[in-house]
This record gives sequence, structure tokens and C-alpha cells, in this order.
Amino acid sequence: MRVLLVEDDDRTAAGVTAALQAAGFLVVRAREGEDAWFKGDTEGYAAAILDLGLPGMDGLSVLRKWRAGGQRLPVLILSARGDWSERVEGIDAGADDYLPKPFRMEELLARLRALVRRAAGQATAVMASGRVTLDTRHMSASLDGMPVHLSPQEYRLVSYLMQHAGRVVSQLELTEQLYAQDFERESNAIEVLVGRVRRKLGTDLIKTRRGFGYLVERSDP
Ligand code: CA
Repeated sequence: MRVLLVEDDDRTAAGVTAALQAAGFLVVRAREGEDAWFKGDTEGYAAAILDLGLPGMDGLSVLRKWRAGGQRLPVLILSARGDWSERVEGIDAGADDYLPKPFRMEELLARLRALVRRAAGQATAVMASGRVTLDTRHMSASLDGMPVHLSPQEYRLVSYLMQHAGRVVSQLELTEQLYAQDFERESNAIEVLVGRVRRKLGTDLIKTRRGFGYLVERSDP
């Protein structure tokens, strides 16, 4: 799950990045407004964490420009200025949630997970499909109730497909979501990863739609 972190302060960015990575997210950072707007508008992210005070174009302007252009990326605003008028302004501009600084990492993560879930139309932190259960709070997977260890990359693949259950996800989309840099993107990386996941979680979780991509079936609770 790829998240865009827009934050000009290096210390805050380093702390948030470490916490997000430990929680299984892939983090791409933008330091200033123009770059943030461009990245959010052209690259695929599960959500954006947006600081309001930025050099150049400020955070609210970035958000307004995204929304004016029809970009519906879920946005969590982060700001030192926690007063109510800013909060109202942010929400009016199209923010999905708002967290005043200073904040606890646990709260940021919980809000971010909730945001990503809501965007995927899903209400709880635990997802299930067939014999497989995924708990996004602990980044843990189980098969028939038995815990299965997944690498961070394997976990990201399974959670992305499960978040988008019922939809065929292309190899290109998965590559964008799972790898931060172009040079990391081997042409068969996703196939190899899917193979590893099937060995761990069974062959019936991830279906191949040849020529189109991969699919996890939606399962009714
Ligand atoms: Ca700032």
C-alpha cells in the first residue's frame, strides 16, 4: 500500500516514514507543494498525509487543486495549527480526516488505516477471503486460523488485493503500489511474489486473469 507523505520538516518526515514502514506501508515523500500536487495527481496512492505549512504552494492549495482536478485520493491533513477554523477550511477543501500536531504515531496509523479502509468501502481492520484472514492492525495473516509469516512485500501484495477484492488488479498497478523506485521493478517481480504467496496461503486465494491481472474474490462475511 503506497502512501504519499507531504511534509517539509525532515524530523517529522523521518518519524512518520519509519512508523508507516513498520506498519507495512510504502512511503513516497514530497517536500514542497508543487511536487506534492504533481505526485498525487499523476501517481497512484492509497492515501496522502498532507502537512499544511509547506514552502511554495501550501497544503490547502495542494488539496484544493487535487479536488478541482477530480483527484479523489483520500487525504489526512497534518498540521501544527489545530484551531477550529483551519480544521473547517481543510474539511471544506476536501480533506477526509484531520490530525493536529503533536500527535501520537498510533493515532496517525489508526486514522490512516481507517481512511484507506473507507476508501476501499470496507468497515473493519480484519479482512477475510476463503481460508485466509488478514489483520491490518498487526500485519498478520492466517490460513485456516493458523498464523502464517509473510514478508513485508508479500503482506503488501495480499493486503492490496484484499482491499480491492472483487476487482481485477493489473500487474502495472501492483508494481506501482509495491515498489517505490523504477529500478526495483523487475518485469517478473509480481509473478514471483504471487508464487511465493500461493505457496504460503494456498493456490485459491489469488486468481490469475491472464492478460489482465490478479484477483481476490470478494467473500461475504
Ligand atoms: Ca510544515
